[in-house]
Amino acid sequence: MDSMLADRLKHIDASGIRKVFDLAATMKDPINLSIGQPDFDVPDALKGLAMQAIDEGFNRYTMTQGIPELRAGIMRQLRAAGRVPADDALDVTITAGTSGGLLLALLTLVNPGDEVLFADPYFVMYKHLVNLIGATPVFIDTYPDFTLTAERVQRALTPRSKMLILNSPSNPTGVVLPPDVLRGIAGVCNAHGIWVLSDEIYSAFCYDAPFCSIFPMLERGLLLDGFSKSHAMTGWRVGYAVGPRAVIQEMNKVQQYTFVCAPSMAQKAAVAALDHDMQTQMAAYRRKRDMVYDSLRAHYELSQPGGAFYAFVRAPGDNATAFVQRAIAHNLLVIPGSVFSERDTHFRLAYTASDATIQRGIAVLRGLV
Ligand code: PMP
Repeated sequence: MDSMLADRLKHIDASGIRKVFDLAATMKDPINLSIGQPDFDVPDALKGLAMQAIDEGFNRYTMTQGIPELRAGIMRQLRAAGRVPADDALDVTITAGTSGGLLLALLTLVNPGDEVLFADPYFVMYKHLVNLIGATPVFIDTYPDFTLTAERVQRALTPRSKMLILNSPSNPTGVVLPPDVLRGIAGVCNAHGIWVLSDEIYSAFCYDAPFCSIFPMLERGLLLDGFSKSHAMTGWRVGYAVGPRAVIQEMNKVQQYTFVCAPSMAQKAAVAALDHDMQTQMAAYRRKRDMVYDSLRAHYELSQPGGAFYAFVRAPGDNATAFVQRAIAHNLLVIPGSVFSERDTHFRLAYTASDATIQRGIAVLRGLV
């Protein structure tokens, strides 16, 4: 088998998460706090628009870079929010989810052998995509506070450093980096000619302060976001990338020969999603965040997550895999930190569930310490 497969797969190891899902498959009606997508559904009005687009025959390839009204709407909204400066040299392309944007950006900017830095704990796709393209992932350990700082980035730099992937709010820690920290990181990256790929997929889920993007602070930057989390459209595959026009045009070339385009009907609905009020859903998630933090803090070591929909909690005994096995024996599914980290001391709890399910999960966790 090994000799049959391409060498690049040697670095791809899905055993950690597969073990968790294999265990989950044996559970009957688990208390599932492992899911990386919202428990609310796509708003009905947006579903209607996608169905209408299909009915009206909007089923063909779109332009590689996406439909003009969506691209214009995204730029308008990002500029109004101060996330993108009013600079004519910038452009946007619609990608097949934020994941699609990540792959296009890496293929466009990173050579085999280059180093790509990111905070550990990390979104697991970063490590594997970087390995897939033959570059080297550099893990910047951010324990115990999970805050990526200018100093931590500076210490990790080498002559091979090409790119930093930044994810605030973060999966899996929920940490939101404040503006002064972002400015420090941008300063280091600008001084060393490092590209920063800012993965802002959780920008809508910011509970304590308005979302702040590093993008306007960067000399070499790409901003990635999408509709998967904010509008629960994970299966619809619509994201976007903003950056210097010359880079976006190269990403479009790669898209032309890989994804071709993002799904047509989902792009149509995404135009209206830009103006669809999701405040009720976001307020509900803030309450879930409070519920998790307030009821676990006396029993477990965790810092208050400022965004996304995860808490990253220290496992008793600092052995997350063993702890998660105990949790699963009590019908609770959470994910061991080793899936998102080079360490195995914490577990990720996703509060993407009904309040009742979260309460049941909390009761089990309280019983395990
Ligand atoms: N970045 C992060 C940090 C994520 O958590 C996810 C989804 N789990 C993605 C990107 C990918 O999202 P999409 O569905 O837009 O591809």
